[in-house]
This record gives sequence, C-alpha cells and structure tokens, in this order.
Amino acid sequence: MTTEPKKPEPKKLPTVNTTLNFDPKYLLGAGGPLAQVVKNYQVREPQIMLADSIRTAFREDKHLVSEAPTGIGKSYACLLAAFEKVIETGSPVVISTHTIALQEQLCNKDVPKLLDAFNLKLNVVLAKGRGNYVSIRRAKLAIAEKLQDHTKLASWLYKTKDGTKESLTEKIDHHTWYRARSDTDQCLGELCTTFNQCFYQKARRDLTEAHVIITNHNLVLLDLKIKSEGLKGVLPEYQHLIIDEAHEFEGVARQVLTFEFKSRDLSGIFYEISNDKNTGFLDRLLPSTYQTLRENMANTPDQETPDPFAGAVKNLYEEIRKLWDSGDNYFKSVEKFIDKEHTKRFTQKHEIKTDLVERVQVVNGLLKEFVPHTKDKDQKAALDFANKRCTEIAMGIDEIQELPNLPGKDFSHVVAWAETHFAPNKSKSYSVVNAPIFLKPILKRIVFDALKSVVLTSATMAVAGDNPFRMIESTLGMNNPMRLRLPAVFDYAKQACIIVIEDMPPQSAKDYEEALSEQVKKFVKVTNGGAFVLFTSFKTMNAVYDAISISLELMGCKLFCQGKDLNRNAMIEEFKKTNKGVLFGVSSFWTGVDIPGQALRNLIITKLPFPSPAEPLLLAQEEIYKKSGRNFFMEKLVPMTCIALKQGFGRLIRTTQDKGIAVILDSRVVTAKYGPMMLKSLPNECPIRKARRDSTIS
Ligand code: SF4
Repeated sequence: MTTEPKKPEPKKLPTVNTTLNFDPKYLLGAGGPLAQVVKNYQVREPQIMLADSIRTAFREDKHLVSEAPTGIGKSYACLLAAFEKVIETGSPVVISTHTIALQEQLCNKDVPKLLDAFNLKLNVVLAKGRGNYVSIRRAKLAIAEKLQDHTKLASWLYKTKDGTKESLTEKIDHHTWYRARSDTDQCLGELCTTFNQCFYQKARRDLTEAHVIITNHNLVLLDLKIKSEGLKGVLPEYQHLIIDEAHEFEGVARQVLTFEFKSRDLSGIFYEISNDKNTGFLDRLLPSTYQTLRENMANTPDQETPDPFAGAVKNLYEEIRKLWDSGDNYFKSVEKFIDKEHTKRFTQKHEIKTDLVERVQVVNGLLKEFVPHTKDKDQKAALDFANKRCTEIAMGIDEIQELPNLPGKDFSHVVAWAETHFAPNKSKSYSVVNAPIFLKPILKRIVFDALKSVVLTSATMAVAGDNPFRMIESTLGMNNPMRLRLPAVFDYAKQACIIVIEDMPPQSAKDYEEALSEQVKKFVKVTNGGAFVLFTSFKTMNAVYDAISISLELMGCKLFCQGKDLNRNAMIEEFKKTNKGVLFGVSSFWTGVDIPGQALRNLIITKLPFPSPAEPLLLAQEEIYKKSGRNFFMEKLVPMTCIALKQGFGRLIRTTQDKGIAVILDSRVVTAKYGPMMLKSLPNECPIRKARRDSTIS
C-alpha cells in the first residue's frame, strides 16, 4: 500500500489578541462597529449573508461557490471571514483576485478601513508575481549590455524602494524589462551576490509573516501546482483560500496548465549565451576559441579538437545555430499547415516533420557538458535556464507529435493545435499549443483536494436551472460544495430596461450588416450617445463602424473603436470623460469595465457571445460529450454564453444611481429554444420589451 507524502502544515503566526465578536450580523449590521465609524452607513443584507456563508464554509472545512452581484460589498465579507480564520487558527488565509485594480482596492482601501474600525493588528501583504520584480543581478547585466533604455533602468534601479514594475514611472523598452526582471529559472538564490538586497527575496520573506495574503489567480495556481509536485511553493503553506472574480479562474488555470511554444521563444532562451547581436558570452568567447583551435591544429595536426574548452565553445555555438534553423523550419511548416486559419488542430501523429526534438536534445547535452567549463555564476545561470526551458520544449513538442487527439478515434486527455498571432502592426507569428481537454481532474487534485476550504465568489457564475452553478462546479472539479446565490442590491425594475429586437436577420443574411448598422444608429440616437456597442468579431465591428461613424459624428458623438487609435484603458478613460461617447468593442470590453454614472447609459449587444465553434479545445470537448451521449451545445456552450451575456450586461448598472437601457440585436433570445435561458440569466426584475426593427423607440 502506498502512503501519500505528509503535507507540510502551515506555519503558526504570532497570536493576535482581540475580543472582537466576529458575527457578521454584529460587525456589518445596524449599530455595529462599522456603522459607527462609516458616514451614511447602509446595511446590506446580501453582504451579511455572504460573510456568514464564508464563515460557515471555513468553520466546516467545506468549499463554497457564491454568486454575489455587483454592489453588495463582497470585499468586506471576504476580508472579515479571512481575519477571523487567521486569528482563530494562527495560519495565513489567501485572497485571490483577477485584476490588479481589485487587489489595490483591497490593500489600500478596504483593509486599512476594516483594521481601523475593528482595532485589529494584522499583517496583510500583497503578493505579486515574480515577473513584477526587477532582479538586481539581471538588471546590471542589461545595463552593462547597454540595452535600449538602459540609462532609465539604471537611474530607477538605484532609487526604487520595492523594485516592482509599478514603481517604474518612465516607460522602458519591453525587451529590456524582460531581461532585467526576476525569473525563477535564472535566479541564483542564496548564491547571488545581491541576495540580501534582492527585492523579490525580501517580498518572499515578508510573506512568511503575513496573516492575510492578497494575490492573483496566476500566482495561486502556480504555487499550488509546484506544491502538488512535492516542491516548495512561492506562497507559505495555507489551507483557506478565497477566490474573488472567480469567473476568471478557469481561463487563468488554462494558461498555467497549458504548454505553448512560440516562434520567438528559442532566440529568447539563448539570449545570454548567444544571440544575433553577438553579445552572448559564447559569441564573445568564439574569436579566441577559433584562434586557439587554429594554433592547436597547427601544433597537433593529428588531433581534431585538442583543447576541450575550445571544442565545447565551438560545438555549442554551432549546435545552437542548427537548433535555430530547425526552429525556423518548424514554424515555416506550421505556417503552411495552418494556411489561412486562425487555429488548426493537429489530428495526425507527426503532422509536421521536424528534427526539433533531436536538435534540442543535442543542445541540451552540450549545455550540460559546458557547465564544468565555466566558473562564472551568471553564465551558469544562463546555461541552467536554457537547459530547463529546452527540456520543457522538447517534452511539449514530443507530446504534440505523438499524441494528437485523433477525432473519433482516440480520446486522450490532451488536445494540440497551431495558432496564428497578429501583432499591432499586423505582422503574423505562430505558436503550437498542447492543452488538457478538461481541467477538472487537475484542479480537483491541486486545488480542491489540497486545501481545506476554497470559496469562489463572483458577480457572474450562475445560469438558470436547478443547480445554477453546475457548469462552474463541473468545469473546476468541485464536488458538491455549499452554494449561495445572493439577490441584487440594485433596483433593476427601475434602473434598467432590456429591449429585444425580435425581427433581426440572421448573421448569414445578405442585409445583416446593413440592418445591424441601422439599429445601432437608431439606438445611439435614443440616448444621444453614452453607448457601448459590443460585438463578437472585429470584422462585423469594423463594417458597422465604417457604415455609421460619419452619421454618429454628425450627431455630436465622440467615437472610440477598438484597434483604431487608443488602447483599451485609454478608450475607457476617455469615454468616462464625455457624456456623448460611443464605444465599439469586442470581447475584452464585455468584462472588467467599470463605468459608474451616466457616461454609460446604453448597452447595445449586437450578437449573443457564443464561443467560436471552430476552437480546437471546444471541438475536442464536444467529441467527448458526444461519445457519452451528452448534449454539448445545451450543457456547455449555452451556459458559457449565458455567463458571457451576463458579464456584458453587467457593464450597464454599476451603482444604485445608474440608469440605462440594454438593447439586444440578436433575435435568437426570443426565437431559439435556448433563448429563455439566456434572458433568465439576466437580472429577473429587469423589464423586457420586445420590439421590431421599424418600431419607434423613445
Ligand atoms: S536573488 Fe535571484 S532574483 Fe534576486 S537579484 Fe539575485 S538572481 Fe536576481
């Protein structure tokens, strides 16, 4: 019988002395300590219910999934439950969010306010990902190499107090930061001469004293993944986790657990060893090597490479070049394979003929052989890094070559595909991807089985049905958790109205774009701007924009269109400043945009946000559903779309003062079988008005 290795116990933190009664009804209720210090305090029943449920989940070592609509104040509920747990157990509690904005709000606003109101002395620390910190050692190398913006980097390096990217007020070149930032594989740890001054190492030491750690989903998942392999994680040991903005957890988990190899990866891996500018240490050694080799050949003509060091330099240099050539050829074949598609699934073993894996193995062998030849710590770190990354690439490519998920034949656990990427200047690059088809088994093992209690909370997780959380539970591998769906605090009956145009033509119709453009123009006029127009494709968005932009400008509207002049954040900031803005955006504007007030009073949803049916991952999932007789469309795609629609709708009403209309220009919400499910996922109190294209709306 095999026994599981014993998990390390969380460290016991110093006792926090308090006699505070942590009952949420008391703390958050009328006349409670918070009500006494906050001006115009309003009791929010759903907030108390959430705090109570998290408390119960933590006490009973259960997992909880909870939908907490915008405006209920879930941050306070999460923090209070975390404070109580850490005081009770002396072990840290982790709170994870998706956005930096929410992490900053928690750390800079909510935590100080609560600690002050309850007179608590707790150490709450923000844990950022390693790549947010500069590595002093690597920054010095980048400065010595005179990389772009090296003088800005140097002057900041000697001034910065925390070494984080956020403290960099001047913009520095992306590649220079990439070279200077802290990186797990290139860190010398205690052998580093700047270990004691290292910002990242200090941040890690601070974490060991933290009662509550506020961090992001990526770091939580990386940490749990490392710990699941029996290694020391980046966060201290803990057993209680709150995942806020939990609707983003699956997407981040996919990134963390997926192998992706991009066309530019190989040159980046070897940058410090050898590069195109000949500034790698091997490039610098090469001239003297050839000199040595020539001299040796002259002195001992019978021996091929009598100087082992010179031989090692020459071999490694030449094999790295061959590997790059092999990589270039591989991605040329990928380009041919993918043709004009955005993504294309590998369905045959060895679909792309390549010697890449063998080339990587040769270079890996030479990298290892080279290590004894160098005493330089920086060179050793660069060799180790290249060796580790090359091993990962060889394994990933080998798996892609050997294990494509053959449709209808072999339902293995992974799916592999090639993908095209477009840079802002429209140039193309490619990557190959190998991803788990379902995350459920991995997340169950590394998250939900590994921790005593995990709380998921978000404003958008539930869909209509007997168990509104079925999809999220089954996607993430949660087994029968506690469930909580809280009522909205907004008065949707008075604050919003949904208008559905029931005779919109289908997207395949000839007059679709014309009809869509007409309706968008008509509804922008109804509110005189203040509109978000959400699309699911750039092509349709650009066509509609081109068709009506002049008319809208003549109406006095200020237009913003994704992919034109401004980046996403600048578009949002500028939109907030005008009362007559009209913003045209695709997927990234459906979620994570917070525009309270009247600047946004009209949300125009041009199409139901179904995911692309051609996505290799969804195709692979569909095959497995079909094989077991399940309806993939109704069980997976429709709930996914309901949640995405709800997220889009959530942009409209952000405070109790906001008012606005949401227009749905996709008649399937009233004509399709799944239509009622879509509408039921939106706030039920919100009145729905059906209209025709030629109806007069005022
Ligand atoms: S300890 Fe690691 S991250 Fe810190 S300066 Fe040294 S090499 Fe860089």
